[in-house]
Amino acid sequence: MPALTHPAPVHVAFSRPSIGEAEMREVRATLESGWLTTGPRVKQFEQQFAAFVGVPHAIALNSCTAALHLSLLAAGVGPGDEVVTTPLTFCASANAIVHVGATPVFADIDPVTMNLDPAAAAAALTPKTRALLPVHFAGRPVDVRAFREMADQSGLALIEDAAHCVEGIARGKRIGTTADYTCFSFYATKNVTTGEGGMLTTASSDAADRIRVASLHGMSRDAWARYSGGGVVDYDVVMPGFKYNMMDLQAALGIHQLARVEENLKRREAIWDIYDEGLADLAVERPAPIEFGSRHARHLYTILVDRDRCGLDRAALSSALAARGVATSLHFRAIHLHSFYADRFGFKRGQFPQAERVSDQTLSLPLSPAMTADEAHFVVEQVRGALAKAGR
Ligand SMILES: *Cc1c(COP(=O)(O)O)cnc(C)c1O
Repeated sequence: MPALTHPAPVHVAFSRPSIGEAEMREVRATLESGWLTTGPRVKQFEQQFAAFVGVPHAIALNSCTAALHLSLLAAGVGPGDEVVTTPLTFCASANAIVHVGATPVFADIDPVTMNLDPAAAAAALTPKTRALLPVHFAGRPVDVRAFREMADQSGLALIEDAAHCVEGIARGKRIGTTADYTCFSFYATKNVTTGEGGMLTTASSDAADRIRVASLHGMSRDAWARYSGGGVVDYDVVMPGFKYNMMDLQAALGIHQLARVEENLKRREAIWDIYDEGLADLAVERPAPIEFGSRHARHLYTILVDRDRCGLDRAALSSALAARGVATSLHFRAIHLHSFYADRFGFKRGQFPQAERVSDQTLSLPLSPAMTADEAHFVVEQVRGALAKAGR
């Protein structure tokens, strides 16, 4: 058996969660407390999240998809309305628009930032436009000032999908402080995770009250308020609400995930830098540098694989890396190319060429604070090896 010159990891997972002892202890304490669903730990997580972002209201929900849905409802978006968004996102951003009966209107991305291009969004506005829904793709903040000005000038609601961007800062301001509604995800692969979960932030007390009621059956009082005070407390159903509340079991994870978010971001930055340096001389296209005054949340490290430059296409590189022990992922196939959107709204390939180029060529490399520097170097070597084999 040949001796290993260095101990190479045999498999690098795409996004291994980083769960610490504190999370484990808190989950156990929650189970032992006898209060499993929305209660004191959710309140604590909401307060800590609001303080972290610097926003008056944070409402914990069971997903970012729920946050997007409730934001659109709170903004009064409904049938006959249009919402301008990016085609380069997860389907939930557009599905939520469909859920409220509105029409998603896509505008192309900026080829450098891969975020919704403000000029393209402005060109897509019509008298029916009711809201703007930019997405901080991969953790890179969108041009928040341009979208804030556009929303204010045209009387539109600004809803940001910040599923990738808990730690983001744009022009010195934290993501979650400049939009009317900002939606965060705590899905298993996200930078802060509760397994499943989400958070909605807003500065409006009136909207926050309405969102809370809508998030739990439309009841005027939540379970903690109904059962914890002693005695029977009546409630009234004021609307046919949804079942979107977060459980204390989820918040038990979130409280400690949030406490480590800055530390974890440093780990993500270190891995990002290893990739950026290690891939610099290769034929793949790396993420653009970060804009001055902004902070990238480093959620996804995406490379573009152009067949003509690399000698193999994205699918071939992905398979070659899998064979070499490196898991990859795809963010995202452009929404307008999915059959529901093409069939229902008549979208066609060719309408959003920049988003389509990314959609066709993008490949996400493993990135997680649980990754070691050795694993990141291993990934670089495998990309190098796979390209060399293809003759590049
Ligand atoms: C993950 C994700 C969502 C959905 O988040 P959930 O918490 O799973 O509902 C929405 N938008 C984007 C861009 C995402 O990546």
